[in-house]
Amino acid sequence: MHKKTRAMDLTKTSFGKIDLENVKGVLLDLDNTLYKHEPCHQAGLKSCWNHFRKSLNINYPADKLNEFYQKGRVAVQKRLFPQGICRSRLLYFQAMLEEMSVPKAFAKAINLETVYIDSFLKSMEIDTNSLMFLKRCKKLNIPVCIISNLTTQFQIKKIMTLNIQDLVSFLVTSEEAGIEKPDKTIFELSLYKLSLPHEEVVMIGDSISHDIEGAKSIGIKHYLVDIT
Ligand SMILES: [Mg+2]
Repeated sequence: MHKKTRAMDLTKTSFGKIDLENVKGVLLDLDNTLYKHEPCHQAGLKSCWNHFRKSLNINYPADKLNEFYQKGRVAVQKRLFPQGICRSRLLYFQAMLEEMSVPKAFAKAINLETVYIDSFLKSMEIDTNSLMFLKRCKKLNIPVCIISNLTTQFQIKKIMTLNIQDLVSFLVTSEEAGIEKPDKTIFELSLYKLSLPHEEVVMIGDSISHDIEGAKSIGIKHYLVDIT
């Protein structure tokens, strides 16, 4: 019985097949659900390393810089997980530069964050099926709450860049909830903003461990999608 339930949960759905009958609200993941994250992330890092070489005059190859970035990221996540701020790109860059013994890392980190975000946003493209789904929700008067494990400012910028602000009613980030998905606290905050009980909403996302397991833990119907 348990095995059967698990297999059903792992089945991926397309946005067009999501049943909205009797649904009063939608909880929707952002990264890798509404757009593909990886190409944007790579574009962001590439611009950062170009900026880095020019401004600091240090000619490390991209591989080496990626390695330092990963070290910074791991150190920040180890210290701050599962608080939402554990995903702060600003903190990753600061930790990276400190790892490289760059003086006044904080001042350089904020420039890198700006370069990263600008380049990331320029590379974003909305998934067509997810956009059609958002329009279907709007037509049916079903409010959508984006629920995301990241920092608030960056996620708002992504929503504005995708130009879906008129199709989304609320945003809940792990930064404001104080804890990441799959913790039920962040789901409860989303339900509170929607003023809806868990039985009347559905959760849609690409991550089994964050989106699906989290929704399951408080009895929210869930759909796993894959836009990659
Ligand atoms: Mg995601």
